Amino acid sequence: MTSLAPTTAGLALAYTTREQLHAQAGTVRDQVFGPKVFVRGVVEVSNFCRENCHYCGMRRDNRSLHRYRLSLDSLRTLIQEGLPSMITDLNIQTGEDPVGVREVVLPFIEFLRKETNLGISVCLGTLDTKIYDELKQAGASYYIIKMETGNREHYAEINAPGNFDERLEAIHYLARTGWAVSSGFILGLPGQTESRIEDSLELLGDLPLAGASVSPFIPGEQTPFSDSPAGDLEKTLDCVARLRLRNPSYIIPAVSAMNIVGHDGYVRALKAGANLATINLTPSANRSDYVLYKRDRFIMHEDRVKRAVEAADCTISPQSIAQTWTAFQGGQAMTA
Ligand code: SAM
Repeated sequence: MTSLAPTTAGLALAYTTREQLHAQAGTVRDQVFGPKVFVRGVVEVSNFCRENCHYCGMRRDNRSLHRYRLSLDSLRTLIQEGLPSMITDLNIQTGEDPVGVREVVLPFIEFLRKETNLGISVCLGTLDTKIYDELKQAGASYYIIKMETGNREHYAEINAPGNFDERLEAIHYLARTGWAVSSGFILGLPGQTESRIEDSLELLGDLPLAGASVSPFIPGEQTPFSDSPAGDLEKTLDCVARLRLRNPSYIIPAVSAMNIVGHDGYVRALKAGANLATINLTPSANRSDYVLYKRDRFIMHEDRVKRAVEAADCTISPQSIAQTWTAFQGGQAMTA
């Protein structure tokens, strides 16, 4: 069988097959975190977006999309009605919508900080540094901002937000100002080559991150890439495993799109070293308008997450990502 050993310098690992690579990554995750999976909720607060990424269904040129912004009241009600007890963190996600951030996300974070113990993550795009500061001041601590590709030319070709250097600078600014930062790349994007995959893994390993993701590309309806093939599940899982081996302490999500591109992708990602699962909390009336790719999404609910974690021989972490990150900063081991 062909060797899957990475070309990344300095990484001498003892696997020769895909199965060994994935199993070894699972073992490394267990050594750092125990066989534990964090469970967060995600609420997709707004699908307005000022960007025009070639891969994303929420791009501003998609005029067929009904645009929504949830109200603060509806978000408060969502929390007050009670979340599944396994959720320790909440991720607030939007298109790149600075108005929504100011009018809804900021006051919602203040509400969450006052009323709950949830760790608060945000995925809101590239914004002014002043807004990052205000979000942090309000109580968020984990910022998800994906590079999408680790290659500068490729970044321009896919029309990702702003430009490569701005996105990098945003990550450095966030890390410098005390955020735990997570980034990521999309596996199988049109124009991606093996060497661009290596660039992506290398960049994600070198940035000052607390976590990173590898998501398979899903061709989005009403996008310039709608006729391109989806990302390959096996390659996606190899990259998840390599990310874990290179960066043992990263928070690495299993993403629902893995179940779209192959059987059992979500569970297999957890077995290959991922340690984060996400329950979708977006009101069902809005879910189909938050289209990264197709209206037809694979939605992870409480029961599916529970079954996936069990099938991967893991347990649900009682500790939040936010608490874990703080403990890491203080030098405490997580497996105790
Ligand atoms: N607008 C914010 C930003 O750019 O960071 C956050 C929301 S954005 C819609 C969330 C993520 O969806 C992107 O970072 C990208 O990785 C992912 N995404 C968008 N289109 C995708 C596609 N066709 N296949 C896989 N992932 C996709």
